[in-house]
Amino acid sequence: MRTYTELCPSPRTIMTPGPVEVDPRVLRALSYPILGQFDPEFTAYMNDTMEMLRSVFQTKNRWAFPIDGTSRSGLEAVLTGLIEPGDKVLVPIFGRFGHLLAEIAERCGAEVATLHCEWGTVFDQEEIVSAIRREKPELVALVHGETSTGRVQPLDRIGPACRESGALLVVDAVATIGGIPVLTDEWCLDAVIGGTQKCLSVPSGMAPITFNERAERKILSRKRIERGIRPPGYEEPEGLGARIQSNYLDLAQLMDYWSPVRLNHHTEMTSMLYGLREGLRIVLQEGLASRFARHRLNEAALMAGLAAMGLELYGDPGCKMAVVTCVTIPDGVDGEAVRSMLLDAFGIEIASSFGPLKGKIWRIGTMGYSCSRKNVLHLLGAFEAALVRHGAQIEVGRALQAALDVYEG
Ligand SMILES: *Cc1c(COP(=O)(O)O)cnc(C)c1O
Repeated sequence: MRTYTELCPSPRTIMTPGPVEVDPRVLRALSYPILGQFDPEFTAYMNDTMEMLRSVFQTKNRWAFPIDGTSRSGLEAVLTGLIEPGDKVLVPIFGRFGHLLAEIAERCGAEVATLHCEWGTVFDQEEIVSAIRREKPELVALVHGETSTGRVQPLDRIGPACRESGALLVVDAVATIGGIPVLTDEWCLDAVIGGTQKCLSVPSGMAPITFNERAERKILSRKRIERGIRPPGYEEPEGLGARIQSNYLDLAQLMDYWSPVRLNHHTEMTSMLYGLREGLRIVLQEGLASRFARHRLNEAALMAGLAAMGLELYGDPGCKMAVVTCVTIPDGVDGEAVRSMLLDAFGIEIASSFGPLKGKIWRIGTMGYSCSRKNVLHLLGAFEAALVRHGAQIEVGRALQAALDVYEG
């Protein structure tokens, strides 16, 4: 019989846009004993999680809970619940994840209109507002922080335009939640999807979402209760909209599961819920304002170090996302060889890139628990060494001093 070695993953310094390192307290939470999903102790943890998610999303929405699945499951749950076949959906695209939103909307049977701007930039909000007035979509879906290009789209003027024209606004804040401000209520966002494995620093496997009453109305207009669990005497209301195509991701059923009704749906992911609850507790204990400031400080130190080496950053600096820094791979340097050396010799992981940017930039994440002075300094020292080793013409010996100046300044 074949035997397998004991599981023993190496400790890494993870400087990618996710998954990132996890606080030891979260890892510990993942190992606690299993509770039944209707055990009052467990449902109390579920309720705490909802309450803490409201704080992190900066919303008074009743509905804030995790979807069991990676962030993409949150995107699918929200779009599947809010888009009826034939609905018109507008998707402004400025990177890879905008394409993902358009694809999911198409699969929901929407008539999708897209707007495009050059990768490395974001939209002037007025352009999106005019498109909303012109196209009159039922729903607008867009990304807040595009990890593929390291850009962040300002959103404050889009929500009011959606309200005015009767459209729902769905925002992918997977990469930004817990790292830079996401003001769900103030920006009039109807539904927001967050991610766990990025700035919240919880393992991948859950997708926190929130939505307001405008979104709830649309979902309830399509609500069915699974036949096998209908209470005695239940009659289906008349005049319902199209049935939500997914059972697993049916927000109407999930609302009954996450509300005091606790109507059975799937089996909650016990250990992931512990991890998320502990991760959120740590985020709120640090405080959102201090957490955002920590992300800005480490970004500034990283950028100072990279600039001191004479490296060029990719993209429009006016819309740079604080938690992802994209570096142009210098001419003649093998980007993948540098990444391999960082991993093999220093235990540091940075990211490559997708689509049109493949082979052109490296992406460095400074997210959540990975976003620390120790990691930034460790990366800058290692990066300089690996670049010299691979023939890059850079300024040597200045990067760490420049970063230390930022930390000590
Ligand atoms: C990472 C990411 C996703 C996808 O998340 P998964 O957890 O891999 O499903 C979606 N949108 C954005 C902006 C992301 O950064």
